[in-house]
Amino acid sequence: MDDCIFCKIVKSEIPSRKIYEDENILAFHDAAPQAPVHFLVIPKRHIRNIMELEQEDISLAGNLLNQAQKLAAELGCAEKGARFVINCKSDGGQTVDHLHIHVLGGRFLGWPPG
Ligand code: 5GP
Ligand code: ZN
Repeated sequence: MDDCIFCKIVKSEIPSRKIYEDENILAFHDAAPQAPVHFLVIPKRHIRNIMELEQEDISLAGNLLNQAQKLAAELGCAEKGARFVINCKSDGGQTVDHLHIHVLGGRFLGWPPG
């Protein structure tokens, strides 16, 4: 998608602090961190949100979760845990329409969200 911020990050047209990259997945630090650890894990392919995942994306979805979990551990969240969040569309508070998993950690996070 030409006007998608995260597609531009994938293509390095917008700079980001990358943490992990493979053929299908990119992880990078959030530009406005809400916790000491706050990074995003995204598919490189433009998928608008979790509602648009298809049956054939099951292995991609599993790999996104797997990377989110591994990187959370590498960034120091193994012992105390973290929050893994996928916002979806307007009621879910999604502001960038390219599927992403937020991983937040390094501090206690209250529940429920506002
Ligand atoms: P959403 O609200 O869609 O779930 O989350 C979008 C996230 O993307 C926000 O946490 C926001 O700070 C982050 N974000 C938006 N634009 C950029 C950017 O250009 N670079 C990075 N690294 N993060 C961004
Ligand atoms: Zn995109």
